[in-house]
Amino acid sequence: MPNRCVAYSCSNTTNVAGISTYYFPKDSCLKKKFVDQVKKTRDKWSEPTAHSVLCCNHFSQDCFEGGFELGKGFGIKKKRKLKENAVPTIFNRNQRDDCDSTTSADKEESV
Ligand SMILES: [Zn+2]
Repeated sequence: MPNRCVAYSCSNTTNVAGISTYYFPKDSCLKKKFVDQVKKTRDKWSEPTAHSVLCCNHFSQDCFEGGFELGKGFGIKKKRKLKENAVPTIFNRNQRDDCDSTTSADKEESV
């Protein structure tokens, strides 16, 4: 059974060509950031299971290590590596349109 991306309105699975999927991080602090992001789009959703994944569509380009997808032209399914502190920020919202300004503010801009 392919794992399906938990993001709202996203139906990508681990089987979709060109889509990389990522498990929730083990680190509880980082995991909470993932969960919070998903919750913004899915009120009913509470916790990821061991099989919950998010697909690469929800991570901005700068979340990935090493830029371009090497090997893509060779038919190699190479999974791009997420940076350790990467947090998914790209989600289709539910119809609720409360634009909270915290969303982008608490991205890790701490240098
Ligand atoms: Zn997705």
